[in-house]
Amino acid sequence: MGDMRIAVVGAAGRMGKALIQAVWSTPGVCLSGGVEREGSHALGQDLGEIAGVGHLGIPISDDPLTVFANTDGVLDFTAPQASLAFAELAAQARIAHIIGTTGWTEGQDEPLKAAARHARIVKSGNMSLGVNLLANLVRKAAAALDTDFDIEVLEMHHRHKVDAPSGTALLLGEAAAEGRTINLEEKSVRVRDGITGAREEGTIGFATLRGGSVIGEHSVIFAADGERIELAHKAEDRSLFAKGAVKAALWAFDKKPGYYSMADVLGLSD
Ligand code: NAD
Repeated sequence: MGDMRIAVVGAAGRMGKALIQAVWSTPGVCLSGGVEREGSHALGQDLGEIAGVGHLGIPISDDPLTVFANTDGVLDFTAPQASLAFAELAAQARIAHIIGTTGWTEGQDEPLKAAARHARIVKSGNMSLGVNLLANLVRKAAAALDTDFDIEVLEMHHRHKVDAPSGTALLLGEAAAEGRTINLEEKSVRVRDGITGAREEGTIGFATLRGGSVIGEHSVIFAADGERIELAHKAEDRSLFAKGAVKAALWAFDKKPGYYSMADVLGLSD
């Protein structure tokens, strides 16, 4: 069997370039195409040259239909509206669609689940082994500790990030909520400003920092009277997420159509 063919959408983005490098340097996979949005300065540029891995003879295109028809998998770290459209195309082409995009709003999972009847979708707000392991630890800690322990999720990212809280912060908040058997949407406090009153017991709070070039730092703090437990992860390089996405594509290659998470890929779902 030949190498798994992988295309990168959002190819000129920060993650797009890291994804091209990761596919290029991983045995068993090869680059089949790159897509950017209409009007992007990157259209027509060489996929390898834009990512600094040398000339590949694959021009970046704004025609996902043709690219999806000639690939086995797509790596997608773009924006929610774009990823929704790509999921439909992935379903038509019956390929693997690895979605790292964050900033989703309520209800946007439904069309993805519909697409997953035909595509193999792996979606995660964080593709690193470390963060997915951390989520497991957070779930266990939250299950072991009662509501005397307040749960707060703190994150910091680079100044260009457009969504908050980060997809990873929400993934960790979700893990804490599962451990506590509560609904995150009902119990989360995403912003505090002005006279907020005292902290409501049993809620999960989020705090967001933005600045500089920080790739991604997350802490989950369990704070009780007189003691505090902190579980944290610091990402030092985007290649970590890109390598995770390639691993997800290889894993999804021979799976049945379905809606999977990175925990499934890493064997961390319990
Ligand atoms: P970025 O802005 O540098 O890149 C996004 C790219 O997508 C841009 O080049 C943009 O032109 C392209 N794009 C947007 N709409 C498109 C469309 N319709 N068709 C084709 N291309 C389109 O952003 P980034 O820092 O690379 O992050 C991208 C996404 O990945 C964000 O949602 C971010 O939060 C997420 N992210 C996820 C993980 C993870 O592990 N899951 C890690 C890092 C970043």
